[in-house]
Amino acid sequence: MSETEKKEKSQAAQLKEKLAAKKPSGALELDKEKIALADEFCEGYKKFINTSKVEREAVKTTEQIALDHGFEKFDINKTYKPGDKIYVINRGKNIGLAVIGKNGTKNGVRLVIAHIDSPRLDLKPNPLYESNDLALFKTHYYGGIKKYQWTAIPLALHGRIVRLDGENIDVSIGENEDEPCFCVSDLLPHLSREQAAKPVAKAFTGEDLNVLIGSRPFNNDKESEQVKLNILNILFEKYGVVESDFLSAELDLVPAFKARDVGFDRSLIGAYGHDDKVCAYPGVMAAVTVENPESTFITFLCDKEEIGSDGNTGMQSAFLRDFIADLAQADGVEYRHVMAKSTCLSADVNAAFDPNYPSAFEGNNASYLNGGVIITKYTGSGGKYDTSDASAEFMGQVRRMLHKNDILWQTGELGKVDMGGGGTIAKYIANLNVDVVDLGVPVLSMHAPFEVVSKVDVYMTYLAFAAFFQE
Ligand code: MN
Ligand code: MN
Repeated sequence: MSETEKKEKSQAAQLKEKLAAKKPSGALELDKEKIALADEFCEGYKKFINTSKVEREAVKTTEQIALDHGFEKFDINKTYKPGDKIYVINRGKNIGLAVIGKNGTKNGVRLVIAHIDSPRLDLKPNPLYESNDLALFKTHYYGGIKKYQWTAIPLALHGRIVRLDGENIDVSIGENEDEPCFCVSDLLPHLSREQAAKPVAKAFTGEDLNVLIGSRPFNNDKESEQVKLNILNILFEKYGVVESDFLSAELDLVPAFKARDVGFDRSLIGAYGHDDKVCAYPGVMAAVTVENPESTFITFLCDKEEIGSDGNTGMQSAFLRDFIADLAQADGVEYRHVMAKSTCLSADVNAAFDPNYPSAFEGNNASYLNGGVIITKYTGSGGKYDTSDASAEFMGQVRRMLHKNDILWQTGELGKVDMGGGGTIAKYIANLNVDVVDLGVPVLSMHAPFEVVSKVDVYMTYLAFAAFFQE
């Protein structure tokens, strides 16, 4: 190499040649400005996820963002004009942000739907007990978890208790360092010979996930279960609740950590509940930043996805359908004609290729961290069972949109064929006669207490939703 050739190579290129291993393919090619925008966007995301550990909190956080951006609560008796920004809330656990389009709902609506529930440990209806002078909570896990991951980590308690007098008590304890937290104990390795010989599914059972909540007796009386009594006394003093109030409560134990940058280069974010707040936030930000769309668009955040989307706050509920029907009626069009022309991005995460477990993935059809927003044509399991398989035409439409807007994207399947599988809300939307495909963020350690995503991918997901609403 001549001296001039050496000079022509940038300092970074020379350093890279000297220090870095050659990447096989798919290396990230974004300019510094775009990466800076991604980093900035994710500062907002970290704030969002820290105050949205459970669905009720995610709805509250989102409502505040909507109000800050000029949205007002939907009123069936009011007439809305193009550009108006409205929101609806269902039972404190779903929120929909809509902006009225120039054509209203006549050419269909654009939907971005993400879920705001995440795997966790729920308290049983009768949770409190004492054993060997320790007080504990019985739990029933919510969603798909690897049970061993939930032992020996700090947990916070979130949710709502409805007292017999009808008063709602909102609970959030364990997030701040000056508050106590809780945990599930695990057997020491020294005595785990029997446990270690079992398959993982048998070594850790649901009934073992009991949460340590106290150890001091109320006083020195000869009364039994004094530790439990002491906890009841503390709960009464703090919240005014008695033991039977647990029956009318929704209390969830979630990891007590906050979102953190991961890596020396701070390119990644580790947090609890990326699935699926990491798609909810870009959906919300797209809804509050895109103005004057052609067609009415809605970002909708649903609940109960992790347990099958059943119930009146799950995606199988009539709530969103009925809201769209209200908008259609106001425009003087039939709801079913609106749905037939509507399109939806089912905003959900997919598994990123994990270098620790390459054998679970098929490299040509896996998604990668920093590969951009991921389109998942179908999910399901056992031969595309239980899924909506997006049509070639709709895939084509979405692909064109991503290309046109210069958005970094990739496609991915959920692991190898017959390795397992999973589902999203896409099939419930498809059943409403809407074109839909999954589009979201690749995640490492999905459903673990500490999941990892790339900042660039989060930002690309926002750009994709914004472009979709802008069309
Ligand atoms: Mn999900
Ligand atoms: Mn999930």
